[in-house]
Amino acid sequence: MKRHFDVAIVGGGIIGSSIAYYLAKEGISVLMLERDKVASGATSAAAGMLGAQAELEENDAFFRFAKESQTQYVSLNEELRKHSGVDIQLVNNGMYKVALTDNEAVSLKQMAAASIEMDWHSRDEVNFLEPHIANNIKGGLHIPSDGHVSPIHLCTAFSKSASLLGASLLEHTSVHAVERNSPSDYTVKTSAGDFHCQSVVITNGTWSGYFLNQLGLDNDIVPVKGECLSVTSREVYLSSTIFHNHCYVVPKGDGRFVVGATMVPDDWSMQPTVGGIHSLIEKIRPVFPKIDSCNFQESWAGLRPQTRDGRPYIGRHPSDENLYFATGHYRNGILLAPQTGILIRDLIMKKRIKSEYIEAFRVDRLLEVKA
Ligand SMILES: Cc1cc2nc3c(=O)[nH]c(=O)nc-3n(C[C@H](O)[C@H](O)[C@H](O)COP(=O)(O)OP(=O)(O)OC[C@H]3O[C@@H](n4cnc5c(N)ncnc54)[C@H](O)[C@@H]3O)c2cc1C
Repeated sequence: MKRHFDVAIVGGGIIGSSIAYYLAKEGISVLMLERDKVASGATSAAAGMLGAQAELEENDAFFRFAKESQTQYVSLNEELRKHSGVDIQLVNNGMYKVALTDNEAVSLKQMAAASIEMDWHSRDEVNFLEPHIANNIKGGLHIPSDGHVSPIHLCTAFSKSASLLGASLLEHTSVHAVERNSPSDYTVKTSAGDFHCQSVVITNGTWSGYFLNQLGLDNDIVPVKGECLSVTSREVYLSSTIFHNHCYVVPKGDGRFVVGATMVPDDWSMQPTVGGIHSLIEKIRPVFPKIDSCNFQESWAGLRPQTRDGRPYIGRHPSDENLYFATGHYRNGILLAPQTGILIRDLIMKKRIKSEYIEAFRVDRLLEVKA
């Protein structure tokens, strides 16, 4: 087995897989280490929405980064299919944030008025396009640019493409420690023995707090558990994703609908609860009453990795220039994966990077480095 690489990536979720792909495309020798199977963490639980407009309301560096990432999907769709043969199931039918009360309508209309990308649609306009959204709504904010993908297919497409481009992927291999021997020589200690590399990228999601601390940083990453369910129907129709009351329905195109997601901070349990699933159905029923006639398919849960300010860490260790972190993507790891991969690639290749991204995502923005 090869033991020396340019870059070792710890964790094979959507973030590690995207970085592996963008580095392998440049001919950089990459090892990605995953303790379970690729796409087995939060990535496997995600609904796959690319909700830049729906999720982020301020026009700041984070929003611009998210928009750039969303835009990457236009070309990635074909690019990844060409490399890997995997269809990431990109659907670009937009989203509706719907209003059930006058107050909700006022606030959504204000958002429409402040944006050139979003429109307010009256109840009749919404129901014309989406006859199975409740007909007592006040209307909806239409967000045409926010689509969705299948996160597991996307992660598989990134990792398979990376592998076909020369990256080594080791599943069922747990990383125990990262040791710095010199500024460009690291030993990565794993359950499959030691590996040596010039750079290391920590991308193990909710569990990356361990490496942040081991590598001298006080940062914490906390889990925010999310529960989802899926239902199926041959009669019920939805083209766009619907949002209401912190809950959504994503039509997956094959008569399958994903309903999500709860937000349970600081909970490490991976099982969905009856209470969690019940609360989702109760929240979505007023805008999507047809859910009652659908067949229950399955439910699941995953742990979103959250930083203290809700923004990811994407950047260098403050005192170790070949050590990188790409973690804490919280509710938007699928949306942010392409641009995160590009940003880490550019940092490793010492390319020019927008300074606002360096500032927005720097690892030490909130913290003291341990002595
Ligand atoms: C219910 C739910 C719905 C969501 N919906 C969306 C959505 O619609 N759109 C969106 O953009 N985002 C969504 N998200 C968020 C998204 O899933 C996450 O932000 C993203 O998956 C984080 O990816 P990651 O690669 O950082 O972490 P993960 O996917 O958790 O990957 C980390 C990997 O590291 C591995 N690992 C851990 N420790 C080690 C170790 N010591 N050695 C080796 N490997 C290790 C784990 O096994 C895991 O596979 C959702 C999340 C949840 C829970």
